[in-house]
Amino acid sequence: MTRTAIPVTHQADSDIAPVREMVSACMQCGTCSASCPNAEAMDMTPRRMWRLTLLGQQDKVFDSTTFWMCSNCYSCSLRCPRGLPLTRAMNALKRIAAQHGDKGLARKGAFYHTFMDNVRRHGRVQETELMQRWMMTMKSPALALQFAPLGLKLMGKGKVHLTAPASSQEGRLEPLFQKAAEMEGRHE
Ligand code: SF4
Ligand code: SF4
Repeated sequence: MTRTAIPVTHQADSDIAPVREMVSACMQCGTCSASCPNAEAMDMTPRRMWRLTLLGQQDKVFDSTTFWMCSNCYSCSLRCPRGLPLTRAMNALKRIAAQHGDKGLARKGAFYHTFMDNVRRHGRVQETELMQRWMMTMKSPALALQFAPLGLKLMGKGKVHLTAPASSQEGRLEPLFQKAAEMEGRHE
């Protein structure tokens, strides 16, 4: 499949400089790719993405879905033999893409933020609420129509419900999110 590279604004180009700095000592060993539980869902491996970042090929980096597929598990950061802050770098790419990208990137960013907020509050994904909130965020009735057939099919199989069921895991992941924020020097 041929994909059209997403144009990166000049500002995004300069914003990626700190990310390049974070991965500047990468020796291309591939440990990050081998450790990543989401690598199969990515369209390029983390190792390749860091290489492209260092080569200044940010169009290819921002055209990739790799950083959006990162679920912040920290496996790569913990195993990188160079001790590079790879999860932080992934999150920085998400922030830059959301700030400077086109409509497609904004949509991915909105889904990502809604997903993370959903997991944070409930301790697991609550699909019904996730989709409701995402569609409200996107303010697009077309989205509701687009997903209606799938939603009805899943409801028929009892996989999703109109109202989100109560979770016994409410708030249980909060300390984990707090710790991640602390590790990345973010204030919440
Ligand atoms: S594990 Fe670290 S050094 Fe190895 S490829 Fe990944 S970023 Fe580079
Ligand atoms: S933090 Fe992201 S990129 Fe790193 S191993 Fe986990 S999912 Fe993969």
